[in-house]
Amino acid sequence: MECLFCRIIKGDIPSKKVYEDERVFAFEDINPQAPVHILIIPKKHISTTLEIKNEDHELIGCMLQVGNKIAKEKEIAERGFRLVMNCNRESGQTVFHIHLHLLGGRIMHWPPG
Ligand code: AMP
Ligand code: ZN
Repeated sequence: MECLFCRIIKGDIPSKKVYEDERVFAFEDINPQAPVHILIIPKKHISTTLEIKNEDHELIGCMLQVGNKIAKEKEIAERGFRLVMNCNRESGQTVFHIHLHLLGGRIMHWPPG
């Protein structure tokens, strides 16, 4: 069975898309933890950050730039925002297709919970 985020990219499962290009897809998180909470994912299935290969470096850079672009569009860039990628169980990763969380629109706490 195909992974949840691969099915979202295909459109088999509906999502609120905010960005798409040939390599990257972004959509609103279903359970937002901040006024802005968007997930930025590669169209290539990569299960955890541990699986990122040398050939993926440009793709990962693109994901960060898409995060910047959306942050500007949502007018949180100057105020500040957070980009987070969880890896494996103790981080809280629940979907095993890497995703960059873009969080903003409120003051973020540090250390994170
Ligand atoms: P993580 O805990 O880092 O693996 O993040 C997974 C994220 O995916 C969580 O923030 C969930 O709320 C989000 N999520 C799970 N299913 C969906 C879905 N169908 N559409 C949008 N976001 C989802
Ligand atoms: Zn996948």
